[in-house]
Amino acid sequence: MKAVVYAGYGATPALTEVPDPACPADGVVIAVGATGVCRSDWHAWKGHDPVVLPHIGGHEFAGVIVTAGLEVTAWHTGDRVTVPFACGCGRCEHCLAGDAQVCPRQTQPGFTGPGAFAELVAVHAADANLVALPADLDFVTTACLGCRFATAFRAVTAHGRVRPGHWLAVHGCGGVGLSAVMIGAALGARVLAVDVSAAALDRARELGAEVAVDAGTADLPAAIGEVTGGGAHVSIDALGSPALAADSVRCLRRRGRHVQVGLLPRGPVPLPMDLVIARELEIYGSHGMAARDYPAMLAMVADGTLRPGLLVGEVIGLEDVSRALAAMDGLTPAGMTVVRLGG
Ligand SMILES: [Zn+2]
Ligand SMILES: [Zn+2]
Repeated sequence: MKAVVYAGYGATPALTEVPDPACPADGVVIAVGATGVCRSDWHAWKGHDPVVLPHIGGHEFAGVIVTAGLEVTAWHTGDRVTVPFACGCGRCEHCLAGDAQVCPRQTQPGFTGPGAFAELVAVHAADANLVALPADLDFVTTACLGCRFATAFRAVTAHGRVRPGHWLAVHGCGGVGLSAVMIGAALGARVLAVDVSAAALDRARELGAEVAVDAGTADLPAAIGEVTGGGAHVSIDALGSPALAADSVRCLRRRGRHVQVGLLPRGPVPLPMDLVIARELEIYGSHGMAARDYPAMLAMVADGTLRPGLLVGEVIGLEDVSRALAAMDGLTPAGMTVVRLGG
């Protein structure tokens, strides 16, 4: 099969011919229909999130099952599916409780093993991790659901517990941030978007943000406090920066909730714990969403409440993946770049 292979961290990946993946006994091999290019791919490629080299990235994908292992009972060749980026083992206490996103034995195609910048990708523990796709959802739209959109959905709903009329601050309007803007607005929240890029803020407004704030604003938390009349009920760091994470906590109103979605550098990140105590703030980390929780999100996609297709920016081919990764050395593009395979 053809795949985009990283030979070294930060070295230009090569589109090359590699052996087809073997099918795990409890897993499937999927013919990739589309796969997103996410900032976490860039982190792996750069070596911030170490992977075993040579490596095939790509963790947001949808496609068709071409081989199913002997132990798989719920899925068959020809099924159209997607998977969460963190696939649980399906057997441990966390998986059995429905929290595969924190499974200690999780597998992540594109990180712990070869990913979906390829014609074929293997997925372990298929019965626990696959998500069936509605027939009318195309692969390009669905590819984003595996990581950024699902992560934003869980951050806004399960952790943020956003209610109509709540102020939701979204720091960083790349793919996951714009997803959070759309989801928050659809749930009736008043969304305040923060970014350094005017183009990203324009997209945020188009997707439902009521207020857009330049990230360079002096004393950002105070500015947000003023606009929201006391601070955001829920605030998300959707980019992943120690400064943004701290600002996200500072901009909360009393009893507010911060959700850390963007990946942070390794090591401790200082947060204003004095405010966490004095204002009784809640701090959450969000690590994607388990397959179990997809139906509620897919129902909102099916009835048009959520329209992830609007978040798709550039649609490219496998041969363009290295260029798309290199482009993330700069600002995150205002829209999700998705690779379409198979014509
Ligand atoms: Zn598990
Ligand atoms: Zn991702």
